Amino acid sequence: MSNEKTNDTENTRDSRELCHWADQVAARIIKERGDLPLYTCASGITPSGTVHIGNFREIITVDLVVRALRARGKKVRFIYSWDDYDVFRKVPGNMPKPEELQKYLRYPITMVPDTFGRDENYARHHEVDIETQLPRVGIQPEFLYQASRYRSNRYAEGMKIAMQKRDVIKACLNEYRDDEHKMKDSDVYWPVAAFCCKCNKDETEIIDYDGEYGITYKCNSCGHIEKGDLRTSKEFKLGWRVDWPMRWNEEKVCFEPGGKDHISPGGSYDTAKLVSKRLYGWDAPVTMKYDFVKLKGVPGKMSSSKGKVISLVDALEVYQPEVLRYIFASNKVDHEFSISFDLDVITIYEAYDRTERLVWGLDEPKEKDEAKKEQLLLREKRLYELSQIDGMPKAMPYQVPFRLLTTLLQTYSGDVDAVIKSLGDVKPEQEETLRRRCACAWYWIRECAPEHAPDMCFSLRKEGKRAQLAEDMAAAVKKVLSDVVPQIDSFQTDKDCQQAIYTVATEMGLDAKQLFLALYTALIGKEQGPRLGSFMRIIGKERLEKLLSTVDGVSAEKLAQKSAAKKLTPAEIDQLPLAERFSRRVILKVSKIEKVEQHPGGSFLYILTLNTGDEEPRQIVSSIVQFYKPEELLGKNIVLVYNLKPANFRGVRSNGMLLAASDPTTEEDTCEVIFAPQFEPGTILEPEGFSVPDDVADMCFVKADKFAEMGLCTKGGFVELDGKKIGADGKFLSVEKYKDGKVK
Ligand SMILES: [Zn+2]
Repeated sequence: MSNEKTNDTENTRDSRELCHWADQVAARIIKERGDLPLYTCASGITPSGTVHIGNFREIITVDLVVRALRARGKKVRFIYSWDDYDVFRKVPGNMPKPEELQKYLRYPITMVPDTFGRDENYARHHEVDIETQLPRVGIQPEFLYQASRYRSNRYAEGMKIAMQKRDVIKACLNEYRDDEHKMKDSDVYWPVAAFCCKCNKDETEIIDYDGEYGITYKCNSCGHIEKGDLRTSKEFKLGWRVDWPMRWNEEKVCFEPGGKDHISPGGSYDTAKLVSKRLYGWDAPVTMKYDFVKLKGVPGKMSSSKGKVISLVDALEVYQPEVLRYIFASNKVDHEFSISFDLDVITIYEAYDRTERLVWGLDEPKEKDEAKKEQLLLREKRLYELSQIDGMPKAMPYQVPFRLLTTLLQTYSGDVDAVIKSLGDVKPEQEETLRRRCACAWYWIRECAPEHAPDMCFSLRKEGKRAQLAEDMAAAVKKVLSDVVPQIDSFQTDKDCQQAIYTVATEMGLDAKQLFLALYTALIGKEQGPRLGSFMRIIGKERLEKLLSTVDGVSAEKLAQKSAAKKLTPAEIDQLPLAERFSRRVILKVSKIEKVEQHPGGSFLYILTLNTGDEEPRQIVSSIVQFYKPEELLGKNIVLVYNLKPANFRGVRSNGMLLAASDPTTEEDTCEVIFAPQFEPGTILEPEGFSVPDDVADMCFVKADKFAEMGLCTKGGFVELDGKKIGADGKFLSVEKYKDGKVK
């Protein structure tokens, strides 16, 4: 516009309407196609495998444009085509029973079985996966199933036209080919192909056409010859470059985007455009090219299995639906971007929250220029609208920064109700969205964060487990317990709490940094954690009292020993004296026998169910049938090699081994189970003078032969290793019968 003073309101309206790319595309569609009673927008895919998050870009691109058209008062039909009459070309790497699927290559995918055993066929399985998820992100297209449409002869006329005008198609295809690759007049070309009606494979060739509906084909796989009729036979379909434009005309499509592969010069869109006009008299739909979606920081759980692709449902584990829409809506369609699972997740949630605050007037743009500021707000508002699932929320959603939410969830061990209660001011209408965010944050901290931000992961020290600190630090922690904790609820801000801790440090003449470290050790067994003032207020008075009152002061020397031992590599552990090596490699846990069953496949084997002090019971297989009756075992405490590498015994999994003594002086089989009535189930036993290592939870499996090499034995009635008795808290394991024997 050259005249600055042209219609001002017109200008504003334009800029308002066109502030998002979806609005610009909608305007282009209306301009190019004119005022229509109905605008059909299309998307589609071959369900030949898991529909991944990159494929989702096409669906949401159409959805955003559909919303923009509707915002202009237009009536819109959003169709999603499942191209399930395409041929099954390749077995993807992430499917079960690949050798079974292999047998169905060259079949239409709708006739391939679902090797997951869930749906009626392979195509349907992948369709269901998407159809059940799309409503979660506010997308509700009308699904069209091409196999059923072709087989019900809906496209008989479209196919007949293609057969009759095959020379026209040839010319269209030739238009984008260089001379070397052009089809000659003498080359045989058929736009229609057939799946053999005997063997279902598409390895057929057309041998005759009657000029109307009759087509004769020969199967090169099974030799069958068939004369079919386009009006009644089920096996015919069009090749992709004709199928696509035929369906544009059939559904009167006026918008459909395409991936880079289709929308390149001379690509399938270009030839389809010619075919659409010349054969069917329909102007090809307005299109736009969308770029790829890359992935960043995909956690092991999602990417480990072979050929695993990231689907919509995977992305929704980490991103609440509004935020996922926001990611797609805020990126230009023809630009590549990444979906992140690493620390960027926090940044993306922060960006969404910032947009939300701007929209609800809780934040101001930094922009000083009024006109630009207004423009920016309009853009943010439109982006926010397009990100919502079902229209604008009635009230401003409850905002908890994603990072803080991970702290809250970990403090409450994933209990969402407790987190919501602790926030104190969540309105009922805000709960649903907040719960979704909680679910994502909890998934992220457990599955993604350990690989990208291990220092953000923690759990409060379990009850019954004591913390060890240097004596002066333990005393300082006790002072925090007596001086700071009682008034924790009366602090107005996190800073007040932080200040109170500084005061304790000053009074005790300690470096504040050291006291912080001591408090983290006491609370979560780590040297760092969430900001302490805020964290202690989140933990709350009651739990702080429990955690800080179970701290023991130990000598600096012992502490130094402990921290030195911590940093050992496996090779270094191998160099340690035997008892110390044992302590760092083997976990012996007292366990109570809760159930004794005969192994169905071995008369000398029991299946024992144990209470190891863990939440879940443990199952082991033991070959002691000839020595003990079930009633002699039931309810007794035994010693379990807790981290023995699991093994199968005649089809039953054994997760560990119980300890028994035997007589070394005889060839005969002898066995005395080592009972441990003096210990509680869950007690970890160590060689005398050793304490349970801090990293016991992270210890690897020990193989049975490695365990045997350690040479556990009985001497003078006690179980020992390298002259050190095995026990805990000054009590030791003992035996009655084989007082100087072997232990295994
Ligand atoms: Zn055949």
